[in-house]
Amino acid sequence: MKAARIIKTKEPLEIKDVNIPNPKGDQVLVKVESAGVCHSDLHLWDGGYAGPQGVFMKVEDRGVKFPLTPGHEVAGTIDEMGESVTGFSKGDKVLVYPWIGEGTCPACRVGEENICDGPRSLGIYQDGGYSEMVLVPSYKYLVKLHGLDLNSSASLACSGLTAYTAVKKTESHPGQMVVVIGAGGLGLMAVQLAKATTNARIAIVDIDEKKLAEAKRLGADEIINSAAGDPVKSVKEVTDGLGAETVIDFVNNGKTAPNSLNMLRKRGRLVMVGLFGGSLELNLPLVPLRAFTLTGAYTGKFADLVELVALARMNKIQSLVSRKFTLDQANTALEELKAGKIIGRSVINP
Ligand SMILES: [Zn+2]
Ligand SMILES: [Zn+2]
Repeated sequence: MKAARIIKTKEPLEIKDVNIPNPKGDQVLVKVESAGVCHSDLHLWDGGYAGPQGVFMKVEDRGVKFPLTPGHEVAGTIDEMGESVTGFSKGDKVLVYPWIGEGTCPACRVGEENICDGPRSLGIYQDGGYSEMVLVPSYKYLVKLHGLDLNSSASLACSGLTAYTAVKKTESHPGQMVVVIGAGGLGLMAVQLAKATTNARIAIVDIDEKKLAEAKRLGADEIINSAAGDPVKSVKEVTDGLGAETVIDFVNNGKTAPNSLNMLRKRGRLVMVGLFGGSLELNLPLVPLRAFTLTGAYTGKFADLVELVALARMNKIQSLVSRKFTLDQANTALEELKAGKIIGRSVINP
């Protein structure tokens, strides 16, 4: 079978002919129909993240090994199954939960494998979906799609799940204000999820009028263009001068993070999600005096992916797939994402 692999970071992916894995025990071989192309794939390809003071945080220092087949947003059809698999049949359309853990750490034991101490995520620590087939270590990581479109479902496993976790972590109550920073794919998903699952008022902050208009169409109550003025002032204006109960920062860089903190009401909660790099200088007395909570969200747990697929089946959320590439075009897909040419999501159809 063919797979697009990162052999060395920063160098073009190579299309390789690799052996088709033979599933045993709980394992399932999934024929990849759609693999989402994600910003995290760019970080893998680049070999890391920009940290504070220009320090580069290398993925290899976090246990990633190359060569690697990336791709953690995988929807496909069950091709072969190990002898102990139950509840699934050949031909079932499934979404793969890629945030696999080692199974025994405290996070894994409470079903939060996405924040496992020894992660084994598909497409990051083991071969993923930029391939004709992917070997899933257990059928317990599969969610049946029940007629949902495979291309628009693929990104639920990553960006959708991340947005859902972030919205849940705000612990928003009815009537509170949740501010979403960034109206990209994740921000627009978060607006829909906040609308569907909380009764909070939703404000969206971005610099792009088109994206803001889309957020309004999807249910945002307040539209704030941060290019036109100070977003902290704008949030205070729509919250009687008090600030917002919760902020989700999908950008989370050195520019947005101070604003996100400053637009919080006393007892406010900031959920940091973006991986755009940088650092934040904390005014330390303000943390106790204003009793802030700062937390992060990274992907999500399996149980939440099941809920998310259910929300998709109820037509509560829509994700835009704007471009489709073949496996041979994997480099083009990554380059176009890097160049900011992709609106919504692009997928690879191997
Ligand atoms: Zn674990
Ligand atoms: Zn992703």
